[in-house]
Amino acid sequence: MLVLHYTGMQDAKSAITRLCDAKAKVSAHYVIDEAGQVFALVAEESRAWHAGIAHWRGVTDINNISIGIEIVNGGHDFGLHEFPHAQISAVIKLCQDILQRHDISPANIVGHNEIAPNRKLDPGEKFPWEKLARSGIGIWPEPKSQTTIIDLDEAKTCLQAIGYDVQNNDISGEPEHCLLSEFQRRYRPQQVDGLLDQQTSSLLRQIADLTNRHKTD
Ligand SMILES: [Zn+2]
Repeated sequence: MLVLHYTGMQDAKSAITRLCDAKAKVSAHYVIDEAGQVFALVAEESRAWHAGIAHWRGVTDINNISIGIEIVNGGHDFGLHEFPHAQISAVIKLCQDILQRHDISPANIVGHNEIAPNRKLDPGEKFPWEKLARSGIGIWPEPKSQTTIIDLDEAKTCLQAIGYDVQNNDISGEPEHCLLSEFQRRYRPQQVDGLLDQQTSSLLRQIADLTNRHKTD
């Protein structure tokens, strides 16, 4: 798997210092600063501690099977600023390099918020997942209109097919941390409300369908 994060700290220096402090018990394979400079902190073959308590497609030890990239951005606690161009270009280039080296399904390229929906919001709704998908990184839906709203059971089935932990999380109803919110934060970042509307229904069916077409193990 490939897991993308924002650092959620004041600046690159404080984030890197923390990620290199053994006492903090957090680490990541890479950090990318606002200017696009890449810092390789942990070898790809080694385990880093970036995911924490998490779940994807039934697997809970995500650190054991993933590469983690920390993207420097203060995040929700520091005003949720746009990710600069140079930084996103570097993210794309690094992800493309990693995908050359490792056989990672597009369906297993995720945000931290998707694998730890009850705890995490990163990389957040400003992160340009669509741009990454246009560069071959991760799944992205095509615009489609659908007039029906699916029921909660079908939404749950779709979320589970995509990889989310539907057993231990609320499906809908909160702007933060329920599964529909975290799904929207990834695939419809302009409106994150946790509600099962027409567009969310259409996106759920599409992403579940795209996921099922990819090899995911
Ligand atoms: Zn994170």
